[in-house]
Amino acid sequence: MRKRVLVTGGAGFIGSHLCERLLADGHEVVCMDNLFTGRRRNIGHLLEHPRFEFARHDVAEPFHIEIDEIHHLACPASPVHYQRNPVRTIRTCVQGTLNTLELARETGARLFIASTSEVYGDPEVHPQHEGYWGHVNPIGVRACYDEGKRCAEALAVSFARQYGVEVRLGRIFNTYGPRMHENDGRVVSNFTVQALRGEPLTIYGDGSQTRSFCYVDDLVEAIVRLMATGTGTGPEPVNLGNPQETTVERIAQEIKRLTGSSSQLAFHPLPEDDPTRRRPDISRAGALLGWEPKIDLEEGLRRTIAHFAGVPATELLVGQQ
Ligand code: NAD
Ligand code: UDP
Repeated sequence: MRKRVLVTGGAGFIGSHLCERLLADGHEVVCMDNLFTGRRRNIGHLLEHPRFEFARHDVAEPFHIEIDEIHHLACPASPVHYQRNPVRTIRTCVQGTLNTLELARETGARLFIASTSEVYGDPEVHPQHEGYWGHVNPIGVRACYDEGKRCAEALAVSFARQYGVEVRLGRIFNTYGPRMHENDGRVVSNFTVQALRGEPLTIYGDGSQTRSFCYVDDLVEAIVRLMATGTGTGPEPVNLGNPQETTVERIAQEIKRLTGSSSQLAFHPLPEDDPTRRRPDISRAGALLGWEPKIDLEEGLRRTIAHFAGVPATELLVGQQ
């Protein structure tokens, strides 16, 4: 059934892929974005689509729209960006989520909220399952984002309990792919751009910290499936990510290999409160959604590198067996 769907943050990295998918599924899409970290270029190919509308608006400011479904992704996601204006980040997380929840309450629309693995902070439990309450520094440099997202979760479950709002909470783990901003500051885009330019790859700390990287198409599939679950599902959070864990140094080596780059590795100080390890336990997502990631790190990196290099993935032969 065709729905009118609002995607906040729809001109960002993940949001633009989600808009594309929702259009492909036959829906009408309203993309709301203030272009803080997003770009018109990400949705340029959708602007002429008859079922697509773009509204430049800050989600933390009031708005009303008739809508059947909401995907709330508006929020800077890279530490470099969310720490540049921490007050704005926390306002976006809290007021922006309140606004989308109020809209869901008024319209009866189901609402997906993009939460994050950062709610687990620097985790003492490994891998992280949804029952773990986390280990977050509430006054550290990442607090504007981590605590902002934790508050967004608390708002979401409160609206679900008190008003019966149909919320779906996805805790997204590190996601990468085409359309990440070249100055985004996150590890995959930084290393890819540096390797392609022959510049040193900037490893923070000794590179032994781990992350688990999910390719964007796999994530979008999980979000669509989560929104299609039955009414009884409720707001229980669901980890969405790829459990294939890797060190930051290995990511650097892999990107060097796949680009054929002779860049050096340059070691820099580790940022404050940088989590030491992170890997999702995705058993809940598996049971609820019948989902698991399909694209492994090598294939995902090939596609991402091809995007940054401006060539089709098939032309990237370096490193192929
Ligand atoms: P992104 O920075 O590319 O996209 C965020 C989008 O939100 C941008 O288009 C930006 O302009 C927009 N935005 C920011 N503040 C806004 C505001 N106040 N009003 C309207 N629009 C606003 O980041 P992304 O990686 O695509 O992340 C999307 C969502 O997924 C975010 O909520 C993020 O917290 C969450 N998430 C992402 C990851 C990841 O690894 N990419 C991991 C965990 C959670
Ligand atoms: N990182 C790095 N070099 C960079 C960018 C990031 O070594 O140029 C490290 C960062 O310190 C962290 C990991 O890579 O340990 C993932 O960082 P990112 O900003 O991508 O995501 P997050 O820290 O939010 O998981």
